[in-house]
Amino acid sequence: MQDENFCPLCGTKKGRFIKGLCKECFLKKYNLVEIPKTISFEQCSTCGKTKLFGKMLVPDSKNLALFVEKKVKIKNLADGEIHATVSLDEDGGFSAKVLAKGIIDNVPLSFEKEVLLEPEIVQCDACMRLSSQYHEAIIQLRAKEGERKELKKMLPILIGFVEVMHSKNSLSSVTEVSEIKEGFDLKVGSKKAAQIAVRQMKNKFNAETKSSSVLNGVDKSGKEKYRFTFLVRV
Ligand SMILES: [Zn+2]
Ligand SMILES: [Zn+2]
Repeated sequence: MQDENFCPLCGTKKGRFIKGLCKECFLKKYNLVEIPKTISFEQCSTCGKTKLFGKMLVPDSKNLALFVEKKVKIKNLADGEIHATVSLDEDGGFSAKVLAKGIIDNVPLSFEKEVLLEPEIVQCDACMRLSSQYHEAIIQLRAKEGERKELKKMLPILIGFVEVMHSKNSLSSVTEVSEIKEGFDLKVGSKKAAQIAVRQMKNKFNAETKSSSVLNGVDKSGKEKYRFTFLVRV
């Protein structure tokens, strides 16, 4: 004999029934998981990084999916499982889907919902500082005796060594390059990045390096701040 079940809410006789309702009406009536319609987060207009879990990170489908999953609340779903997928659109936007799985009355159930990801455009702290020429270090690029020609070739390489670290360290950027008689002076946002870049010049091009620091005021917590100068001779 055929199953004469029908849904009292929509009248359908099709599909699986849970607690006397069709699956669709059941999902509408019972709030099994709370999936927000939109999820917003800060995104920097300059560097494109997004603020996730309190940190500025280069957005990718992995960290955004994790962020979305953390915003979903499982309410009435035994052994509930949440899985988010986020794709980066060509226009720079994001599309997200949440798949929820669980068991109701011993019936395995799964459903999917789209979530709107809404970046809130800001300028991150690091970019704000860099735009006002913030720098913890200066790299002085100089030539070894009689090798001045090399400097123009070495400059973009040195800048590259600093900039490549930018995805991990937002202050790892060259904010200004000035050409002077002796060579080039580069302002670098992060002291640590300057130090690493200088070490790479030493290792790869046998550059001679020296460093020094001068006191450059105190920060809010009263800690002394230094400005570092790295001399690189190539
Ligand atoms: Zn129904
Ligand atoms: Zn930024």
